[in-house]
Amino acid sequence: MTDSRKLREALLQEAQRFYDQTPALQTFTPWPTDLTLAEKIPDTPPDINPALDVMQNWQSEQPFHQAIRRAINVISWRQTYSEAEVGRAFLDAFAYFELFGPDGLFRTNEGRAYVGFWGQGLFYPWHHHLAEEIYAVVSGEACFEAAGDPAVTLGPGECKEHASLQEHALRTPGSPTLSLVLWRGEGLAGDPVIS
Ligand code: ZN
Repeated sequence: MTDSRKLREALLQEAQRFYDQTPALQTFTPWPTDLTLAEKIPDTPPDINPALDVMQNWQSEQPFHQAIRRAINVISWRQTYSEAEVGRAFLDAFAYFELFGPDGLFRTNEGRAYVGFWGQGLFYPWHHHLAEEIYAVVSGEACFEAAGDPAVTLGPGECKEHASLQEHALRTPGSPTLSLVLWRGEGLAGDPVIS
């Protein structure tokens, strides 16, 4: 087994351990049973490197956080949004990857999971998607806003659900945030749309 493979397997193991310690995630959707390591993943575009430097400099005792930092160079990181949609400062300190799903580091037809990193002081603008969603904060904290819900600041192990097409946004005034995000229901293969 190559080192890159080992790092990704270790990352998945820590993700599952975090899931196993977070009851709201277990209630939301089962852990997929058909996960296979993707043979080939796209390279991370070089413009994401400034954001990854910010993430790399953020240390935490959290084992899942540490596994992500160790595997940072063997993950296919993405940003998806344009500068016009979210602004330059956002793109300089935001990155995410698909942990499992149709295009993930691990392939499955049973669900979709992302890991997102937001540096301190960002505003992730209002957006929506067809799939239902749950965020679980892995490390740091973030303020979650969603149409019809009171804004709530959450820390490690705390969760926030979003219904299908419910508008939501996220702010990180006090701390960077690393979160695990699970999707379920229709629209699993879709992307978020900025409102
Ligand atoms: Zn969302």
